[in-house]
Amino acid sequence: MCGIIGYIGNKQAYPIIIKGLKRLEYRGYDSTGIALLQKGETIIYKQKGKVSHLEDTIVDENLSGTVGIGHTRWATHGEPNDMNAHPHASQNKKFVIIHNGIIENYSRLKKKLKARGYKFISETDTEVLANLIEYIYEKGNVSAEIAVRLALTKVIGAYGIVVICKDEPDMLIAARKGSPLVIGIGNNEHYIASDATPIVEHTKSVIYLNNDNIAVIKRGELTIKTIDNAEIEPQVQELTLEIGAIEKNGYDHFMLKEIFEQPRSITDTFRGRIASDLSEMRLGGLLDIMPQLEKAKRILIIACGTSWHAGLVGEYLIEEFARIPVEVEYGSEFRYRNPIIYKDDIVIAISQSGETADTLAAINLAKEAGATVLGICNVVGSSIPRETHAGVYTHAGPEIGVASTKAFTAQVTILTMMALILGKNKGTLSEESYLKLIKELTDIPKKIEEILKSSKNYKSIAELYKNAGNFIYLGRGYLFPVALEGALKLKEISYIHAEGYPAAEMKHGPIALIDEKMPVVVLATKDKSYDKIVTNIQEVKARNGIVIAIVSQGDEIIKNMADHVFEVPNTHEALAPLLTVIPLQLLSYYIAVIRGCNVDQPRNLAKSVTVE
Ligand code: GLU
Repeated sequence: MCGIIGYIGNKQAYPIIIKGLKRLEYRGYDSTGIALLQKGETIIYKQKGKVSHLEDTIVDENLSGTVGIGHTRWATHGEPNDMNAHPHASQNKKFVIIHNGIIENYSRLKKKLKARGYKFISETDTEVLANLIEYIYEKGNVSAEIAVRLALTKVIGAYGIVVICKDEPDMLIAARKGSPLVIGIGNNEHYIASDATPIVEHTKSVIYLNNDNIAVIKRGELTIKTIDNAEIEPQVQELTLEIGAIEKNGYDHFMLKEIFEQPRSITDTFRGRIASDLSEMRLGGLLDIMPQLEKAKRILIIACGTSWHAGLVGEYLIEEFARIPVEVEYGSEFRYRNPIIYKDDIVIAISQSGETADTLAAINLAKEAGATVLGICNVVGSSIPRETHAGVYTHAGPEIGVASTKAFTAQVTILTMMALILGKNKGTLSEESYLKLIKELTDIPKKIEEILKSSKNYKSIAELYKNAGNFIYLGRGYLFPVALEGALKLKEISYIHAEGYPAAEMKHGPIALIDEKMPVVVLATKDKSYDKIVTNIQEVKARNGIVIAIVSQGDEIIKNMADHVFEVPNTHEALAPLLTVIPLQLLSYYIAVIRGCNVDQPRNLAKSVTVE
């Protein structure tokens, strides 16, 4: 979850590291630290808080050095404080390490190291690894590389680590299992980071480290080996990421920028996949697997968080158009509950980052059971696309705001395309409806543009309800997952408690919460359950609840009932999630801004959840 950056070359490392950490801060941001090699000594500066705090604190220090590492933490072991911040030095100061992930057997290892005289000054699992490496190095009288490798064979868990050894100063050692690492190749210099965002401004040539690989990185030399010490040929790839995509470009927050990017990101998602005469759609990554998909007796969708909500929309779409039963599972539940998986099951794993630990574990379980696994991911080259049999990239571009927006709509776009293609191929969707829906889908970006034109209107509503203690979100059919997503968005960034419910379920419990202080956001566009949702609105109003309704353009009926309405353009009901989620994103955004919350880096959260 954390951000990792390292540099070794001929330039000064500190400016590269500090800028890199700022770019990585969305991954974790409870503490920051750097280590620089200076004349054979490793100098560490670290503290609780943001990168800019650290920068201010150390501005007058000697920050020279051409080898360095930096870390932004998302605490798992030990509270965020100065001592637990990374980098961690080993007891005898031979090694300094930064780590992303969790060493699951850390307490056993710690006990053994304590018995051998090691003392610990932090509560982290990472310090245990630092000391384990040092213990093996000193006791075994081996090289730093061998010590790291041997230490990792003793470790259970997930890690992306970068290590500096004081005795072998012109070298970084990096290793990964689970948590991603990417190496950037410059001119007689190398970068290492937990994702490509801090690297792209320096070089576009990168190597994604595979699981169980260890890289020995020197200025102009790179060796990659497996944990069993077999050398492997690095696969150099060209980054397609553009620097503009990871900057705010004049917006106050990345989240707002990403909300406004959706007309473009959805277009990018179907670009090249829909024929220019709108007669056909194809998802290249699924072509080989299509016959199997069409025959599938069951599809399991596995995801976490917002991606799980996209998966729910996918369930409704695939069941309606392709008539294949779909089950949507949380990665974390699926992996531990002894699920029934058939060999002819198709599993679709959805993850923005492609690194979600629980989803990855569920993929492996499904693969072991013989199922065919597909991925829907945003980050090219990430773990899920590499672990799955086939898949589709969403191409939404980098999502930096921790609360997902454009990745959700891109995921829903892919699932819509998948459902329509499957339906057409299976004959469960008529050619006429297929063509109509393609046309409707391609109209979505300009309809979102229309919604965004009135984005300022959300500010006044946000002002009215900024102090609400709770919100309820209601929707039916395709809009039920959108209600869940709206509630999640509000919780994540404004810290207001919110619940999403299927509208009809309200009277089975949550209706007890409704009074004149409770804002109820109702997704009520014109679809087959419109009359029912109108009744649900009446039920809320009868109990003096405040109704904020998202309605179809020109809806006069609900306008006369609700306290506030936001209109969205008309579309086919199966595509309504792509439009109705936009007002909910904007509402959460403005409420969070007015409440003074850090929208892009909400408390306790991190962007890609690489730990379970
Ligand atoms: N488990 C480590 C810690 O708690 C690393 C957490 C992270 O990935 O930031 O410090």
